[in-house]
Amino acid sequence: MPLTAKINPNNFFRPEIASLNAYKVIDATGMIKLDAMENPYSFPEDILNQWLASLKSCHLNRYPDPQARELSQLLKQVNQIPATCEILLGNGSDEIIQLLLMALPTTASVLAPAPAFVMYQQISRSLGLNYHSVPLTTDFELDLPAMLTAIQTYQPAIIFLAHPNNPTGNLFNLNAIKQIITASNGLIILDEAYAAFANSSFIPELETYPNLLVMRTLSKLGLAGLRLGFIAGQPEIIASLDKIRLPYNINTLTQASAVFALSKPEMFTQQTQAICQQRTLVFKQLQNLDNIQVYPSSANFILFKTATDQANIIFAKLKQHGILIKNLSPQGGLLSDCLRVTIGTESENKNFLNALKTILAELI
Ligand SMILES: *Cc1c(COP(=O)(O)O)cnc(C)c1O
Repeated sequence: MPLTAKINPNNFFRPEIASLNAYKVIDATGMIKLDAMENPYSFPEDILNQWLASLKSCHLNRYPDPQARELSQLLKQVNQIPATCEILLGNGSDEIIQLLLMALPTTASVLAPAPAFVMYQQISRSLGLNYHSVPLTTDFELDLPAMLTAIQTYQPAIIFLAHPNNPTGNLFNLNAIKQIITASNGLIILDEAYAAFANSSFIPELETYPNLLVMRTLSKLGLAGLRLGFIAGQPEIIASLDKIRLPYNINTLTQASAVFALSKPEMFTQQTQAICQQRTLVFKQLQNLDNIQVYPSSANFILFKTATDQANIIFAKLKQHGILIKNLSPQGGLLSDCLRVTIGTESENKNFLNALKTILAELI
């Protein structure tokens, strides 16, 4: 090839990659960051120093423990994983979603409700799998008859259900979930990324349903920078996934830091409780605003709907006020005119609400 020739990736890569858009993250430098469901609190000074001290015993010249044995044991214990189940760790639950989908035959179908966490569709499409979605009802509940029909029609190898759901924030009807698990011959991935903020988990059900897997992450709890998630289920399934996992996917610093963090459950409980209290306050304040419809949340964020065609304007004006939230309106469908705000600290939330009130008053 001549040195000056322009190289065309489509000559080498799969065609589905050409039609994908990269996952974009807006630069939030200097802004109040309420867009990504992060915990707003960092470690207090004394815990920060304990953490740094704990890292002194890390050997960065050596490869990490490929099985992350200490961390795995601790995660099983803390999350009360049934003794008959195994877990697999991922570099964030995103990596676990990728592993699950990479294990499927290319002809397989994947099913999820819509709206759902975007990575289910993004990764399915990047692998050329057949991704199908079934719209939620207008109150963001599972449309059980439509889900059961889709299971019949597409025979999905994997069904993703986030519980609570992202970006809507609600828990699904438990009975509907159980009927979906029973009706499917494929695997059901119950994504419990927001378990810390909800009073509902399918971990105890792992022993009831052999095709159920429960996935969790430390990201939303307050450790998004570590990139650590895990999935629990029948040992045979976990052993198969483990074959395609890269051997050192959980790095030494993540292993050590997560082990340290899991020894501070009181700190996380305190932070989580503060976030849940703020969630109630922000919800009530949003409820009092004209031209805003707010949806109940069991997660650390709140979805709300603006008057028709105002979401883009409000999102842009909030940015001018130095506040970054998430604009879901471009996704259309049930998310038209919808914005999502992550619960921050008390002062961050006040700033957000004050800015929103000012903007709404200007719009009248
Ligand atoms: C944030 C999120 C994830 C990704 O978590 P990571 O562990 O940070 O990769 C997975 N599922 C849902 C529903 C999420 O909202």
